Amino acid sequence: IYFHEMELDDRILKAVEKVGWETPTLIQEKAIPLILEGKDVLVRARTGSGKTAAFAVPMIQKILNSKQVSAFQDVKALILAPSKELCHQIHKVIKDLTLKCSREIKCIDIATQEELDVQKPLLMEKPDIIVSTPARCLQHSKAGNLDLKKSLEILVIDEADLVFSFGYENEVKQLLDYLPNICQSILVSATLNEDVKNLKKIVLHNPVTLKL
Ligand code: AMP
Repeated sequence: IYFHEMELDDRILKAVEKVGWETPTLIQEKAIPLILEGKDVLVRARTGSGKTAAFAVPMIQKILNSKQVSAFQDVKALILAPSKELCHQIHKVIKDLTLKCSREIKCIDIATQEELDVQKPLLMEKPDIIVSTPARCLQHSKAGNLDLKKSLEILVIDEADLVFSFGYENEVKQLLDYLPNICQSILVSATLNEDVKNLKKIVLHNPVTLKL
């Protein structure tokens, strides 16, 4: 299967071509259509599998779709990751994939050291996609700088097992109160341990599990 067989916008296909990917990886081949369909998905995948694009590509596609229906600018997707480094990597992948639609889709990474007040104006611009650690996102939500309750459509928790081992469990659980009761959710984890299974029960609705 090729990317152009996956019902993706030309601007995404061109960006994929630019980064030099010829065919989707196995996880991308399985996950992209499911996420496009609107399913909640639990993905067991490691770094190196192409897991980032597996959720980023359909996320970008869905945001482009929703922009055709409504031009109202608000935060549509939140990606939580357990470290600043990982947030930067994810942000970079999204930048690459939105190269041809950078005017339509704005993505910011708020997992930096900068003070909350420095980031506040960035959040006021309502980027389409936010990448953050759970702690930083919770701080902004508590401070009232970020209101995801009505607008959020897609939640991704990447490296969910590390979210627990890095001690972010409480932040994630508290953050759920600031998110819509139901939105499409995707959990990505290298291992499906008890912690991840519990999180699955709280966050995912009728999920499809992909073990690759
Ligand atoms: P990830 O598992 O998301 O950390 O990605 C691991 C590496 O695979 C990154 O360097 C990506 O640029 C690369 N990659 C992702 N998707 C593809 C693809 N379809 N073909 C070739 N390389 C890819």
